[in-house]
Amino acid sequence: MAAYDYETHNFDAIVIGAGGSGLRATLGLAEQGLKTACISKVFPTRSHTVAAQGGIAASLSNMGPDHWQWHMYDTVKGSDWLGDTDAMEYLAREAPKAVYELEHYGVPFSRTEKGEIYQRPFGGHTTEFGEGPPVQRTCAAADRTGHAILHTLYGQSLKQKAEFYIEYFATDLIMSEDGVCQGVVAWKLDDGTMHVFNAKTTVLATGGYGRAYFSATSAHTCTGDGGGMVARQGLPLQDMEFVQFHPTGIYGAGCLITEGARGEGGYLTNSEGERFMERYAPTYKDLASRDVVSRCMTMEIREGRGVGPKKDHIHLNLNHLPPETLDLRLPGITESARIFAGVDLTKEPIPVQPTVHYNMGGIPTNYWGEVLHPTEDNPDAIVPGLMAVGEAGCASVHGANRLGSNSLIDLVVFGRAAAIRAGKVVDPNTPNAPLNKASVDAAFDRFDGLRHASGGTPTAELRLEMQNAMQADAAVFRTDKTLAEGVETMTGIAAKLDDLHVTDRSMVWNSDLMETLELTNLMPNALATIVSAEARKESRGAHAHEDYPERDDTNWRKHSLAKVTGNKTDLYYRPVHLDPLTTQDEGGIDMAKIAPKKRVY
Ligand SMILES: Cc1cc2nc3c(=O)[nH]c(=O)nc-3n(C[C@H](O)[C@H](O)[C@H](O)COP(=O)(O)OP(=O)(O)OC[C@H]3O[C@@H](n4cnc5c(N)ncnc54)[C@H](O)[C@@H]3O)c2cc1C
Repeated sequence: MAAYDYETHNFDAIVIGAGGSGLRATLGLAEQGLKTACISKVFPTRSHTVAAQGGIAASLSNMGPDHWQWHMYDTVKGSDWLGDTDAMEYLAREAPKAVYELEHYGVPFSRTEKGEIYQRPFGGHTTEFGEGPPVQRTCAAADRTGHAILHTLYGQSLKQKAEFYIEYFATDLIMSEDGVCQGVVAWKLDDGTMHVFNAKTTVLATGGYGRAYFSATSAHTCTGDGGGMVARQGLPLQDMEFVQFHPTGIYGAGCLITEGARGEGGYLTNSEGERFMERYAPTYKDLASRDVVSRCMTMEIREGRGVGPKKDHIHLNLNHLPPETLDLRLPGITESARIFAGVDLTKEPIPVQPTVHYNMGGIPTNYWGEVLHPTEDNPDAIVPGLMAVGEAGCASVHGANRLGSNSLIDLVVFGRAAAIRAGKVVDPNTPNAPLNKASVDAAFDRFDGLRHASGGTPTAELRLEMQNAMQADAAVFRTDKTLAEGVETMTGIAAKLDDLHVTDRSMVWNSDLMETLELTNLMPNALATIVSAEARKESRGAHAHEDYPERDDTNWRKHSLAKVTGNKTDLYYRPVHLDPLTTQDEGGIDMAKIAPKKRVY
């Protein structure tokens, strides 16, 4: 066994990740008197949540009539009927409470004339169960909503005396012999010391894995570390084939232009200057849901109506809006357009293209955030001591496609739910169980093996191969052929993890080793994505399969589960939860309203 000295820390609860979901969970756990630590590989307020622009969905009705049941309907339809009904009900019902809590914690939301929280329209959010006009449901702090939320939650967590371990990289979960999660092993990046965290409950809040692709709006730190840790314990990842392409990443740079830009009146045009979304989605036009808009843009480009010398992108027009509106509501993207596209928003359109943005799939959980290990006998069996929230988790409320502004609300609703649940399950007055030494040793052995990896493939080279393969074969449109090729290519690429070469062997600020650890996490996420996609013979939400253009509810209204070991992926399935939390008599939704139907906008 590799010999490393380490320090042991005992907590009731640890949270891995300090994005919106991790901080909301940390705050909730600490508020309940649990001894809580939050471990993050970056400074908390640098987590990717800080980049969230557009806003957070909740049916507050500040700018016109709205109802949680309309929000639930839109979420069900957005998910293309793959989301779990109980979790989607929980999300829509709890959303207003969670947003008012944020307001009271101090989030500086933009305001209406009356002084209430400002709300803007966002794609796929409607009134009257999709029969009425778009609704203004997305609560915003200008176009810097994530920034505002993250800073507020960090301050509140400190106030509640949560302990922060900043720039600590969690490498692996520690599991008992009978499958209970006991904590994590972590490497402190700035001094090279090793740490073992023993906790009664471990919450994974590690974010998405956008960086499995070449072009993504997400931060370079979004490497699916939680999914990697879970996969290494023989646990499955769920619905990984559903990857969201955002319609408006800046062409070439990949930086995001929020959907709020279209919410405020922006629209897309092709090389003929045509506002083409009117043709595809006559009712909601540019505010149809993201998967739909991304596909329409791709179709325009394929048919030769893309803009630019290569005819390979689309224009987003905002120059018709009053400069005061841009200044007040969209100051951040005005700056991004200038810096990353060299465009003056008040005069010219922004060049945009569909760009990888969000992972609907992740670590399967119930609506309390408890991680599931579905078996044939019990599709809802939980992994004791382990929870997952935020983009790392899959509750599943986004199903096959997430609506804009439904992630930030997912972070706070389920971060809060996980804390409430842990408060019931964890007893702060009992001592922590002794750690499974074999599991701790295995984590150190893996770390040491990578630190001294002396094969022939540099990490950066293999990462690029993976990113290019995913970009080409797990794209907006998919076919049997591209997916089969993708599985073969990715299986070959993943095998090369055994041949990695790490140049830097030091322990202090070794970014070579850190990126290698991240690559070992990205890889199982990427493999699960392409293998699950290859198997799904239908089109649903973000999974647009040209050989099977229709949704097939008879055979495919089920969650994919992928267990990845090395470069091998085994698939199985779990039923979608069809039952709501409350019946219509108890004030719940009329189930007839959310019965499956064709998804048109
Ligand atoms: C540019 C952009 C704009 C967006 N805008 C919106 C929007 O307006 N509305 C909306 O609803 N959604 C939006 N989204 C989506 C949403 O912001 C993200 O899904 C969400 O912020 C993810 O939050 P999170 O808490 O899951 O993780 P993140 O914010 O990604 O944080 C992950 C945390 O995990 C930590 N971590 C990861 N691995 C390790 C490890 N191995 N060891 C220790 N720590 C680790 C990191 O340090 C970090 O603190 C946007 C996304 C992007 C990329």
